[in-house]
Amino acid sequence: MSDARKKTVGGNWKMNLDREGVRALSAGLAGAGLPVGGVDVAVYCPFPYLTVAGEALGDSGLKLGAQDFYVEPNGAYTGEVSLAMLQDCGVSTVLVGHSERRHVIGEDDVLCNAKVLAGLQAGLEVVLCVGEKLEQREAGQTDAVNAAQLCYGLAGVSANQMAKVTIAYEPVWAIGTGKTATPEDAQAAHAAIRGVLGSVLFDEATATGVRIQYGGSMKPGNAAELLAQPDIDGGLIGGASLKVEDFSAIVGAAAG
Ligand code: PEP
Repeated sequence: MSDARKKTVGGNWKMNLDREGVRALSAGLAGAGLPVGGVDVAVYCPFPYLTVAGEALGDSGLKLGAQDFYVEPNGAYTGEVSLAMLQDCGVSTVLVGHSERRHVIGEDDVLCNAKVLAGLQAGLEVVLCVGEKLEQREAGQTDAVNAAQLCYGLAGVSANQMAKVTIAYEPVWAIGTGKTATPEDAQAAHAAIRGVLGSVLFDEATATGVRIQYGGSMKPGNAAELLAQPDIDGGLIGGASLKVEDFSAIVGAAAG
């Protein structure tokens, strides 16, 4: 592991909470003294409440993130939200290719790639999510699925731009299910991802600097073990990010 890799933890609130819930959670996190221990911490808030969250986070140092966006700058794209709109609301980091967008909404790798490139072009931090479904894991395809999603998703991204990209390895079968990859299985997938970054897409120095989060039912009870693995540089947290205490405990585990 490179000591230069700062741990990074994101809270993905998904389509949860209302205005007051967002305000209370954001204020609670800021009041809990997050971020701590040099860990980068971001929360990915539903679109309508981004400004509510931003105001409550204040100057805490917690980053405000969006769960999705569209690649075009403006125009006839009914229902979509542009990067400029998000930046206007204080967003500095975006998720791309979360498994719920890939497998529930139907986003493909081509769109994910366009989103990665657009996010970087706009100067935002981009978290590209990859991960296999249960049947793919059972067929021994985990590393191949991750490699394909990385190669498609990062096409046209330069080694320099990778400073603004985080990869989130999120096995689909572990998201929101209470099932977690064992630390050893997660580590093996992360090492393989870093291998693709180092030997297929970029070079070893670039791969060594890229942070790879684990996501999939990470909780206070299993975070420390997962985060102790050499290639696990943080977590993307769904359910447990909705409670100040649980999310703070995970960030604390990342701080070591
Ligand atoms: C996620 O939403 O990215 C996630 C990992 O969810 P959960 O922690 O609930 O599995």
